[in-house]
Order: sequence, then structure tokens, then C-alpha cells
Amino acid sequence: MSRQYIDCREFPSAMNCSVALSADSDKELLEAAVQHAVAVHGHNDSPELRKQLASMFKQGTPPLAVAQAGMASA
Ligand SMILES: [Zn+2]
Repeated sequence: MSRQYIDCREFPSAMNCSVALSADSDKELLEAAVQHAVAVHGHNDSPELRKQLASMFKQGTPPLAVAQAGMASA
């Protein structure tokens, strides 16, 4: 299975989170993403949250820099 990742930088939040998580399986990545979303972003662990997170997974590894929508210069 190829490397997958989820990158908070692509989803601007109030805290400007810059965490990116990556793993070799979508199951590992989902668990890490759920823990991060709950611990850092205050979400509740729910099937809806897991579904939303899983839809944000990408193939490969996190890029060094991400162009954020709505953030001209930071
Ligand atoms: Zn985050």
C-alpha cells in the first residue's frame, strides 16, 4: 500500500494548524487523524467525522509548502 497523508494546512482553521499526518495504510492514517481532530481541534469522534477525514486523504507524502485558500500572506 502506498503512502497517504492528510494535511491540516489545506484546511484553514482558527488556530492555523500546520500539522500533516502520513501513514502507510488508510486505517492508521484515519486513527491518527481522528485523534488529532479530537485532541487539537475539539471535534467529537463520530462516523461523520471519520467519513469527512477519510475524504481528505491524499496519496503520497505531505508537501513542504501548501498554498492555502484565503491566506494571502502569513
Ligand atoms: Zn490540525
